[in-house]
Amino acid sequence: MDKIRAIIKITGTVQGVGFRPFVYRIANQFNCGGFVNNDMSGVIIDIDIENAKLKSFLNALMNKAPILAKIDDIVYQISNSLDRKEFLIKKSDVTDLPSVSISPDIAVCDKCLEEMFNPHNRRYHYFFINCTECGPRYTITKRLPYDRKNTSMDKFEMCFWCEREYYEPINRRYHAQPISCFDCSPKLFLKDAGANVLEEGVCAIEKTASLLKKGKIVALKGLGGFHLLCDATNSKAVKALRERKRRALKPFAVMFKNINWIKSITVITEKEKEFILSKEKPIVLVKKKKLHRLDKTKFKLSASVAPNIDRLGVFLPYTPIHYLLFEYIDFPIVATSANVSDEPIIKDFEDLKVKLRGVFDFVLDHERDIVNACDDSVVQEVNGEKQILRLSRGYAPLSFHLPFKVKKRFLAVGARQKNAIALAFEDKIILSPHIGDLGSVESFEYFKRTINVFKNFYNFEPQTIVCDKHPSYETSEYARNLSKSENLDLIEVQHHLSHVYAAKAEMFFKDHPLKDEKFISFSWDGTGYGDDGTIWGGEVFVGDERKYHFKYFKLLGGEKAIKEPRRVALGMLFSIFKEKVFSLEIPPVEAFSKGELKLLYDSFQKDINTPLTSSVGRLFDAVASVADLVQVSGYEGHTGLLIEKFYSSKIEERYSFEIRGKEIVLDEAFKEMLEDLKKVDRKKRISTKFINTLADIVIFLAKKENLPVILCGGVFQNKTLLNILVKKFKKENISYFFPTLIPINDGGIALGQLWKAIKG
Ligand code: ZN
Ligand code: ZN
Ligand code: FE
Repeated sequence: MDKIRAIIKITGTVQGVGFRPFVYRIANQFNCGGFVNNDMSGVIIDIDIENAKLKSFLNALMNKAPILAKIDDIVYQISNSLDRKEFLIKKSDVTDLPSVSISPDIAVCDKCLEEMFNPHNRRYHYFFINCTECGPRYTITKRLPYDRKNTSMDKFEMCFWCEREYYEPINRRYHAQPISCFDCSPKLFLKDAGANVLEEGVCAIEKTASLLKKGKIVALKGLGGFHLLCDATNSKAVKALRERKRRALKPFAVMFKNINWIKSITVITEKEKEFILSKEKPIVLVKKKKLHRLDKTKFKLSASVAPNIDRLGVFLPYTPIHYLLFEYIDFPIVATSANVSDEPIIKDFEDLKVKLRGVFDFVLDHERDIVNACDDSVVQEVNGEKQILRLSRGYAPLSFHLPFKVKKRFLAVGARQKNAIALAFEDKIILSPHIGDLGSVESFEYFKRTINVFKNFYNFEPQTIVCDKHPSYETSEYARNLSKSENLDLIEVQHHLSHVYAAKAEMFFKDHPLKDEKFISFSWDGTGYGDDGTIWGGEVFVGDERKYHFKYFKLLGGEKAIKEPRRVALGMLFSIFKEKVFSLEIPPVEAFSKGELKLLYDSFQKDINTPLTSSVGRLFDAVASVADLVQVSGYEGHTGLLIEKFYSSKIEERYSFEIRGKEIVLDEAFKEMLEDLKKVDRKKRISTKFINTLADIVIFLAKKENLPVILCGGVFQNKTLLNILVKKFKKENISYFFPTLIPINDGGIALGQLWKAIKG
């Protein structure tokens, strides 16, 4: 028997995820002596092992690692065996672990659920049950390393039994930092809106259920913040929530007890099922089932949950409290982030009381503080893949290991919408959870707070700061000021080029075979500041050069146009038909009075508040207005969803387009659209032909340039468009890439900025 000593070093997310007990088990299986330990950069395993078995030992480390572990790298050295017999877990003597990544929060695991529903278990119905493989992480962590004393569980002392589990290496709660039980638990309360405690513990959950049954709106403290809950089958309750939250149309996500409930009212694919059940438990956008009035289903969702669209955001319970709640109710619940519109999700009762006064009737609150807020993640299936549209709970913070060291410490501050931040230091890149739209003082504070959280975690001070070129984005102003006051380098990256670089970063992380190619990149979204001062959003890059773009048209009323598709349509129609528009009997014209039309034409001619745009997002608005799908839109992305709803795969025609030099021109397309308005199936025809047109523009230019394609920007959240394109790419043998791991929308901008700064 030929024994050797192997010192194995593992880096990645390997701390606080049950990695050392896992190594302990494997080492015993392989009859190894030695020890496992944590150090500054990860885990060290020092073993004596049979030479012939080393390979399978390493394989076991790679393939059987705990669910939350993410191994970036394994390196090892071999020397003479020390002939040790026993294997030990050494206590970590390192107090400062700046380069170890923090793990995202994870939904309660099956083993914990089994215990929670076992009447003989000491944690039967225990509402904070967790183990090394599940429960809160990022949201309760004040500083690294991830250790109980550095979390919001620090003020709760472990009882005798919990402490035993916590210190026992082979226990599944070994070093589970938030460990607790009924004997040593943070308290759970049901309070009324005036903060009077009505019930405690499990009774509070039961009472919450009975209030929901009565149509009440209850705020519930989850992992990363409060949700507002109500019975999703009770239209009165859902409408009350809409009114109180002042949210007219934007769809609500719905939480279901189990996958069968979801299946009963939606059509889901195997993949979608997989995403819904995955350990991250994201909100998954799926298709509603077309139900007839007489269809017998377990329940009927209120039409006010996601009005007029054929999609629904669904998810499953992910905390023990959610599971217990569903023990007492037999209907799905609306579960929407508790916030004031444009503000971040609320994480403290004190805030909730002030800001959402009058919105909720009761609150299920608890004593485990949320240190860092974190919204629910949102994903969808495209082409069999999981596309992350909002990177947050369960996925973020997201860290990447680079095969090289960056020359400087970078901080990228993102855009204005769907903001997130990104940092790079040494061989690491970290992307924060979704911060949100920065339209308010509160959300900007949250943005700054998040930067501080990450500075703290990683002991990080930036040397270079990267931002959008926009002259007045709060984030860009913040970056410019910081660069001045702290004397840091400043790099500004054009918005749509950032989208392209976000895609390139993802290709690099995935080690995609095309990662070093030159691309033709379609960077299409709603708005972004262009190099010429206009509003870009329909850009086509070849390499880094902006080679094509949609022909500019005027946005009547600037900002105001963004909420009114009819204005966008009119701006487009004026540019094509001039004053002839007045005599057209079409929906966008009929949506205005004669007087309004005159005023708008006046502003069009005199260029009063009519910024130019090439935005494809706005083209969707214009088309939705012409096709009479909507004239005043309820929320961002609304027109896209409506056009998708009316898309019909039976119609294969498209509209004309023309490439004039750098410009993609759709004048003819709009003329043809007006002809289609005369047809009976006009909504379907126009929606479908428009999508087909966009797809063919991509294919045409890709063939013309003869380069592989990148698709990026918020427009490509449009699943219908993406699916058609994928089919066409395959048929035409065109290589392509679009981000799925990092949001394809502005949530990926910070990473794009960072990557552009690193790669030059
Ligand atoms: Zn667990
Ligand atoms: Zn305990
Ligand atoms: Fe964008």
